[in-house]
Amino acid sequence: MQVKDIDRTRSAELYEKAKTYFPGGVNSPVRAFKSVYGTPLFIEKGDGSHIWDADGNEFIDFCCSWGPLILGHNHPAVREKVIEVMQKGMSFGAPTALESELAELILSNNRFIEKIRFVSSGTEAVMSAIRLARGYTKRDKVLKFEGCYHGHSDSLLVKAGSGLVTFGETSSAGVPKAFADETVVVSLNDKKALQEAFEEFKGQIAAVIIEPVPANNGLLLQSKEYLQYLRDICTQNSTMLIFDEVISGFRVGFEGAAGYYGIEPDIITYGKIIGGGLPVGAYGASADVMSHISPEGSVYQAGTLSGNPVAMAAGIAQLSELLKPGFYEDMQAKTQSFVNDIQNFVAERNYQFKVFTIGSVFWFAFTDQESVSRAEDIDPASMAKFKLMHHELINRGIYLGPSGYEVGFISAAHTKADLEKTKTAIFDSIDIVFKSSV
Ligand SMILES: *Cc1c(COP(=O)(O)O)cnc(C)c1O
Repeated sequence: MQVKDIDRTRSAELYEKAKTYFPGGVNSPVRAFKSVYGTPLFIEKGDGSHIWDADGNEFIDFCCSWGPLILGHNHPAVREKVIEVMQKGMSFGAPTALESELAELILSNNRFIEKIRFVSSGTEAVMSAIRLARGYTKRDKVLKFEGCYHGHSDSLLVKAGSGLVTFGETSSAGVPKAFADETVVVSLNDKKALQEAFEEFKGQIAAVIIEPVPANNGLLLQSKEYLQYLRDICTQNSTMLIFDEVISGFRVGFEGAAGYYGIEPDIITYGKIIGGGLPVGAYGASADVMSHISPEGSVYQAGTLSGNPVAMAAGIAQLSELLKPGFYEDMQAKTQSFVNDIQNFVAERNYQFKVFTIGSVFWFAFTDQESVSRAEDIDPASMAKFKLMHHELINRGIYLGPSGYEVGFISAAHTKADLEKTKTAIFDSIDIVFKSSV
């Protein structure tokens, strides 16, 4: 069934104005809708699983602020706790009991870290974890994987050069080549490339950093066996293994991917969900490793707004909900049933389309491959199909992240009715995509 385009008049006006203030009209690039059709939607409010834009259009939201909103928008427990704490002042730059309260909630329910440090974003968490690994091992090189995103710090804005094992090449102007030279980049799910990297840079690699659930370039699920191999090769080489769990932390389970796969990294980074929608990041490790952080140790790291009381309050309220019995089981069951219904629909029609999923994360891929575990396995040409699908979904009141490389998130607020409506919209949109010539 064809539907007409939604009205974006007010969003378009707001976008024109924003362009006079911000580069590209936004404060984070992907928001500019460069990979999909139309003006970026300016959001006015959110409640539960729904958001409303400046033109009054209503959407079921599967972006969920890029993952943090696992309880949906404006959850009463989070809102009320934030308001309560905010009434006593918003920042002190001195310790508060709230920091320990959030830390206790996390540490007493996580077997993989003994101490934690709060920062204000995922980027900052990862940047600090890398410094800690370098300070601890007294080595400089870091190994990362093509297709994993770890925020925008210099050492990690690096992509693979040519060849199997390579020094990285910078993926942003302004990153000195000398930084890229300290970053080695290999393909995901490739043991041979890893072995060669460890041979070539013997005794030099401080840390291997991976998204154990790579979810920033499609959903490139790795096998437990591969992750265990990674653990072992790091141990053999006295290299620290960093799990960047900014997305997977508190998402695939309260203990994140470390708990999901039963693999113990040396350092874990968190962000997104941990702050209940406010800016919080964190990194954690054993008490011994964390003792290297200042003021106890010699690795410097600080933050004016770190452990901000209002942000801590949001984190406490959100994580408390996640600890309720059955939370993750319900999320998983709901997501699995949603995904299965879509898989069945496309299988009946023989469409080249797959939904990859873990926990309450899903990724729509226009492919017929059984698994997609490396960045190179994604066909960039397939993104034209996503672009059309995105447009059709927006017009049917379904909001996905504005790029085919982005995953979708289901929140606790998504109801059965939401998911039924979404499936109908998806079926109609996929039919249109496969009838078109894109
Ligand atoms: C989002 C993300 C980051 C960066 O977090 P910001 O809060 O955007 O700085 C780092 N690593 C991963 C895995 C992420 O998904």
